Amino acid sequence: MGKIIHIKNAKAIVTCDENDSVYWDSDILIRGQEILEIGPNLEPGNVDETIDGRDKYIYPGLINTHHHFFQTFVRNTLKVDYVNMTVPEWLDRIYPVFQKINNDVIYYSSLTAMGDLLKHGCTTAFDHQYCYTTETGTEPVDRQMEAAEELGIRYHAGRGTNTLPRSEGSTMPENMLETTDVFIKDCQRLIEKYHDNSKFSKSQIVVAPCQIMNCYLDTFKESIKLARAYDVRLHTHLGEGENEIIKERWGKRSLDLCEEMGFIGEDVWFAHGWEMTDDELDRLAKMKTGISHCPGPAILGGFPIIDMKKMIEKGVVTSLGCDGSATNDSSSLLDSLRIAFLMQSYFSKERGGAISPYDLLKISTINGARTLGRNDIGTLEKGKAADLFMIDMNNIELTGMHHDPKNMLARGGVTGATYLTMVGGEVVSREGRLTKVDEEELSKKGEKICTQVLRNTTDAF
Ligand SMILES: [Zn+2]
Repeated sequence: MGKIIHIKNAKAIVTCDENDSVYWDSDILIRGQEILEIGPNLEPGNVDETIDGRDKYIYPGLINTHHHFFQTFVRNTLKVDYVNMTVPEWLDRIYPVFQKINNDVIYYSSLTAMGDLLKHGCTTAFDHQYCYTTETGTEPVDRQMEAAEELGIRYHAGRGTNTLPRSEGSTMPENMLETTDVFIKDCQRLIEKYHDNSKFSKSQIVVAPCQIMNCYLDTFKESIKLARAYDVRLHTHLGEGENEIIKERWGKRSLDLCEEMGFIGEDVWFAHGWEMTDDELDRLAKMKTGISHCPGPAILGGFPIIDMKKMIEKGVVTSLGCDGSATNDSSSLLDSLRIAFLMQSYFSKERGGAISPYDLLKISTINGARTLGRNDIGTLEKGKAADLFMIDMNNIELTGMHHDPKNMLARGGVTGATYLTMVGGEVVSREGRLTKVDEEELSKKGEKICTQVLRNTTDAF
């Protein structure tokens, strides 16, 4: 049956459903992981917990579709600053640091990123884990699954890899390469161990070779075979500045190459996509292939800003990602949501209008769910998962901004932690603190590991 929770008298409930419904002065009734009912003055009888919704706005949990959790421990490293370097220069400086990463770093950096995500309203996260060193072996995703379970987040793990050596044109150091065979076998192991595609699943696996520039084409071809045999999703970086190199190497653009191999379709999404031409966007829309837009790194790296209005109009499934902290520094998707909105607005005159702040909320919720292939999350509706966050409107920084809950997050911005974040009926963060773990202790341990393994052994800090 599951625990019954009654959220009572919420000031506003933004559902992101098909009708863009907003309930005022209403309740949410939850049983176990599931929303039973939303509406005013519900009288459920005996309940296990009542949560006071007065003066709170409630939103569907945000869904992050691109990240690299392991990079959380190389934040604020101005000696290796992405802002002042080209991407190949940055990769050359950052890889000596990544090579030191061990499984303790994977575990604590993942806890850090996921904790940050939860505290800022994100209830489902995808991570693109491609950091495999001689120290880590093939254990990283196992450690991340452990961390996700401890915190209570829904976790979709992207098992990444790089297989092409430098001598054949990649940017990878030798000791961070794997063979396609090792990669595929480990993906299979992870799928069999963790992939759960049932309703309200909290752990899924995505086959996610890191990037076409740093892999043999065989790695991609074998990934497709495996993913389709097990009915799991595929992901990679694409249209992020590699096209010239790919054209030189293979005589065609990267999307053409992907299309030829079959790395496209409803079960595929790409990170970034800022190099896509109009014709390529049309093809993505037709094939129902998604794009995860990551505004943080785009602005810090000075990359072209994608035209989300055009992408939405063309029908491309567009979602939102923080991306790795080495190129963003923040794992708050609330922060990325506002940055994305500001970036889109900057071009509104020359592009004939921008998307609305509410559009961005839907991009970060229901579109994220579609991207990950889920119809049980992303909106607040009867039968969907009770994944939500509450914002306390009795805060001075939100005073005078109560008129419009749908547009408030992207337009006005909420910079602090949520009042409450819930995943599948479980309160995982309350009044700015994670509830299932001792946050202070984890923070201290994580900082110690970061110092021992990375700060004291490299000159990056
Ligand atoms: Zn990335």
